[in-house]
Amino acid sequence: MMTPSMLISEAGRISLPLSPLRLPASVDAPVDRVSLGAARPAHVPARPPEIGAPKRLVAPEDLPLNREPFRLSHDLRVRLYPDRGEMVGDDRMVISRLPYDQQANFLLSPELSVRDVTIDGARVPYRREDDRIEVDLRDVAEAGDSVRLRVRYDGRLPGKENGPGASGTYLYDESWWHPSHHGVHGRARLTVSMPAEWTATASAGEQSTEVSGGWRTTCWETPWAGAGLSLAAARYDVTAEERDGRQLRAFLFPGSSANAQRLIDKSAGIIRYFTPLFGSYPYDHLDIAESNTEGAGGVPSLILFQPGELTDEEGLDDFLAHELSHNWWAGALAGYTADGLWYEAFAEYSANLYTRGSKDSPRAVREREAVLSRWHDEIGAPGATPLREVRSYDPWEEKSLVAYYKGAFVLDMLRDRLGDDAFFGGLRTFVQQQRGHFTSWSDAQSAFESASGEDLSTFFGQWLDRGDAPSLALQQVHTTAVPGGWQLDGAVQQVQSGDPYDLDVPVIVKTRDGQVFRKSLPMGDRQGTFSWTLPAPPTEVQIDPESRLFRLKNDQEVWIAGQAPPPVTLSMQS
Ligand SMILES: [Zn+2]
Repeated sequence: MMTPSMLISEAGRISLPLSPLRLPASVDAPVDRVSLGAARPAHVPARPPEIGAPKRLVAPEDLPLNREPFRLSHDLRVRLYPDRGEMVGDDRMVISRLPYDQQANFLLSPELSVRDVTIDGARVPYRREDDRIEVDLRDVAEAGDSVRLRVRYDGRLPGKENGPGASGTYLYDESWWHPSHHGVHGRARLTVSMPAEWTATASAGEQSTEVSGGWRTTCWETPWAGAGLSLAAARYDVTAEERDGRQLRAFLFPGSSANAQRLIDKSAGIIRYFTPLFGSYPYDHLDIAESNTEGAGGVPSLILFQPGELTDEEGLDDFLAHELSHNWWAGALAGYTADGLWYEAFAEYSANLYTRGSKDSPRAVREREAVLSRWHDEIGAPGATPLREVRSYDPWEEKSLVAYYKGAFVLDMLRDRLGDDAFFGGLRTFVQQQRGHFTSWSDAQSAFESASGEDLSTFFGQWLDRGDAPSLALQQVHTTAVPGGWQLDGAVQQVQSGDPYDLDVPVIVKTRDGQVFRKSLPMGDRQGTFSWTLPAPPTEVQIDPESRLFRLKNDQEVWIAGQAPPPVTLSMQS
């Protein structure tokens, strides 16, 4: 979901800092939760900022271990008055199992006033504090009961200043534009009335639309329980096309409707690319809508983008691929955050798959190097928050580096370890097993284990539960002439202060006659020794020059014949 290093100007537009090392990463958090200044590494093409479109599902803290959340289904009817910047809402909810305290808790934007809360027409008491509503149901229901509750409310369209209004309205789930239980919902039906010259798209499937008496009324339904409801409405030009059996629609402002074809073509291409890798696209349609209010990002079956994102071809590909992949990662598979923002790692990895081509391509190597150099410069030996503990986007800078970039790197290493068949088989197993469920890193591990037949607890444990990174040094490298060739002996030492990692270290050896030998050194302990026979004198040994291992790089990864090794850096030593 979306973005970090952006500055929001008074006009609500986003401008990017100019330093080349400060390109934007993506954040999925609403902008008020995003700290400014996070960055994509140099050489990594910048994805346009994702703001205000949290496609993540924020599971409530108290979600029990069996992951049966407090289920809330909505039949939400809303009327938009964009010229006045106001809305009226009527949400008929079903709480499937009332919690033990017999309280129903919701979030609703402070811009919106509650008119009444009723059950079968009778008012029930509630307390309101800022964006929280606590409804006391002790007199009317028992814990575990199914309860039909109706909340009527109205007020200003929630969102940023200069945001929702006459020129367009984007109501993302976390603006709390309807009573929401932390964005978690059961099935939902949404009916929106707006001025007839407006059209709207939502994170759900459109069922019907009709125009009468100067009003357009459109109805959507979600195909399954999941993440929050988001809605974009404006005076759009809508272009719809059938591609590969599903409808792709572009909702564009009149000035940019010439881009419709390009957006539809690109999106169709990305869906076609992902389908054999992840399994079929989870929805029957995809809408891509321009937003002039807050930010951009992907929610189920809907991608919101800012006009500026159309100008940079590479950035647009990266943006669309990341956001579109959220239809699997956080759409079909609801993003349960208790053990980390796994779906950001998966979305970032998906965008990498699409934009980098082969994992050996020069771009892939360059981008992995850029992540390691950012890790070196910004995190260093002390380490960062472990992946499993990054459950929010705040503070953005470090957490984005962990959740997006380290997360995607870990998936790259898993692919190296399992091979393509087991890795992509694991991805498809993951989708099949978890569709419609609250999903976590642990579920991903189980899927890869069942696809590969391997116990991956050490792999996932060391990469998800540790905040440091391994750091590797070549030691005692020497060569000896032997009958028929040359023997190269030496060791790779793990010099980080924490426990050793379990690694397969790629090592490249070059010989005087210009040959290059690729070796792999398994290391289950702090030191791994090697003894390789080569046909010509070795001139250079280098640890992992293609940056396949996530690590804290140092200057002892290269040995050159005849040169003294650099001294071991003390700070790296235990
Ligand atoms: Zn994302």
